[in-house]
Amino acid sequence: MRIVVLRAFRPSLLIVVHKPVAVGGLCGLGGLGSELCERDWLRCGDAAFLRPGWALPSDMTTPSASTSGSNPSFNPGSNSGSNPGSNFGSGAHKPRPFVGGNWKMNTDRASGLALAKAVAAATKPLEEAMDVAIFPPFVYLPLISQALCDAGSKVMLGAQDCYIAEKGAFTGEVSIGMLKDVGVSAVLVGHSERRHIMHEGDDFVTAKVDFVLAAGLTCVLCIGEKLEQRVTGQTDHINELQLERGLKHTKVEQLSKLVVAYEPVWAIGTGKTATPQDAQSAQAHIRTVLAEMFGKEAASTVRIQYGGSMTAANAATLMAEQDINGGLLGGASLKIEDFTAICQAAAASVKA
Ligand code: PEP
Repeated sequence: MRIVVLRAFRPSLLIVVHKPVAVGGLCGLGGLGSELCERDWLRCGDAAFLRPGWALPSDMTTPSASTSGSNPSFNPGSNSGSNPGSNFGSGAHKPRPFVGGNWKMNTDRASGLALAKAVAAATKPLEEAMDVAIFPPFVYLPLISQALCDAGSKVMLGAQDCYIAEKGAFTGEVSIGMLKDVGVSAVLVGHSERRHIMHEGDDFVTAKVDFVLAAGLTCVLCIGEKLEQRVTGQTDHINELQLERGLKHTKVEQLSKLVVAYEPVWAIGTGKTATPQDAQSAQAHIRTVLAEMFGKEAASTVRIQYGGSMTAANAATLMAEQDINGGLLGGASLKIEDFTAICQAAAASVKA
């Protein structure tokens, strides 16, 4: 058995990784009975060894370029024209793309494991160009964490939600510490299904953002308007409100761990995709709001994903837009061919 010793000092001072020794930790969780693997320790070790408040460095920028293609999109009240660009300039560098697969309440042990292995293999050649995350159901996180470790994959393991306390009498909830303990390094916050089916309000969303960022994990903050809000011209206003409330306590130095997912509610799981122009318009406005809150330079580095019926057919056209820096996928993340094609389109969207 390989033994690894990882000694971590408080990063406010220093983190030192020593070679091998030790037991337990992440990879033995979930009754998997496996050894502690040697996957990139920043990701694999995130889980087992980092503690709240420990932030990790992240390189976020890659050169920009665009791709094109055709895409039949839904247009229930176009917003384009009102805010076609964030004034960051079409030649500006695009942030490093980030594609996330939100599996929601889908897969089982065998199919989830197979899908995770397939994602790890398919995205290996893209690791230099982009970040990829998968968000399986809670119960499969340890299993999939192990599979990603075994594959030596840089795919980030994500959780679909979290709770806003470290431990205690909160039946049914899962804390950030627990998520880190099994290898999670990213968390979805404020997904529309949680906002609108579970009735999670703005204050709850804000608290979750605060918890995730304070723990040094990547926070994917989901925002977006409902159909009636779009047709009545409130898209930018709703995004502004959700952004300002969600990031009420966020500090500029935490932005490297923030990803914003613009997900028009009417597009999620409906097969109705926003037009690239409408998505760009909304996302340009989101970047403008971020610039007002945190400054233009900091705002230019934040990854803004589009989510809502993104497919292998429309991904390249969407991600060719300046302020669309990847995607958050539901349905398409469950089909390896589609997920792979979308990741490839994301990587190509920043190639010269
Ligand atoms: C989502 O749930 O975040 C999502 C974008 O779903 P879909 O891709 O299925 O629309």
